[in-house]
Amino acid sequence: MQHQQTIQPQPGQQINLAGYDPDYTGDWEKDLARRQFKDNQERMDALQNVLYAEHKHALLIVLQAMDAGGKDSTIRKVMEGINPQGVHVWSFKQPTPEELDHDFLWRIHQHVPAKGMIGIFNRSHYEDVLVVRVNKLVPDDVWQARYDHINAFERLIADSGVTILKFYLHISKAEQKERFEDRLKEPDKHWKFSRGDLPVRKRWDDYMAAYEDALTRCNTAWAPWYIVPANHKWYRDLVISDAIVRALESLHMEYPAPEPDLDKVKIPD
Ligand code: AMP
Ligand code: MG
Repeated sequence: MQHQQTIQPQPGQQINLAGYDPDYTGDWEKDLARRQFKDNQERMDALQNVLYAEHKHALLIVLQAMDAGGKDSTIRKVMEGINPQGVHVWSFKQPTPEELDHDFLWRIHQHVPAKGMIGIFNRSHYEDVLVVRVNKLVPDDVWQARYDHINAFERLIADSGVTILKFYLHISKAEQKERFEDRLKEPDKHWKFSRGDLPVRKRWDDYMAAYEDALTRCNTAWAPWYIVPANHKWYRDLVISDAIVRALESLHMEYPAPEPDLDKVKIPD
């Protein structure tokens, strides 16, 4: 795909989100993008099958975004062609009292995908440097130390055979307003609306600053961030499916060798 440079920043590169257009769609037209997406879905399905069979690698997909940023619909849409048996989706909510009695990565680590599996995090350990920072849920020095903790943790799991892809779904504040209004208008979407999302929206700029630090400080060679222009769902789906296909293809996976002499096996009546 063209224009990778606008979507996959270099490790160490300082991120300024004002420089990323949430409406960006490259040179793509919607129809063509949808066709390419279908193609990616088919390739993902085939690659997932060999990932499962080979049982050597795992893939972890981390999704972060503001409310109404499209995390749920990305999971539904991008993964729709994949065998559910090979996928584990986990949504991280406010930590329980038990979880809060442990280090912030304790609850995360147990959901890291096992060999052969694709794991999807709907929110993640990044909440611990986002909502936790903006709402001052822990002292400054505690969340500030977490960027290093996160990089070391992601290094550990990457070294253990987990390919990590992190997607920040970048929507504009105006797009969030439209999506919230949609949720208020459509009865089937009322359940998705929470008044609690409004104080978060009010602190949009604080969240952008927190995202910029996470995207800058935790964008490593072993766990790269993608900044996905996400106002247009069809482009978002294309970018994410494309990154997944490329990551899986680069593993050069193979089906395990069959048992010897399969051609001599006769299935008894
Ligand atoms: P939702 O994704 O809409 O179901 O909402 C989940 C809520 O849990 C969001 O408001 C998150 O900010 C919140 N949340 C997730 N992880 C944490 C965390 N580590 N600390 C505090 N709040 C969190
Ligand atoms: Mg919500």
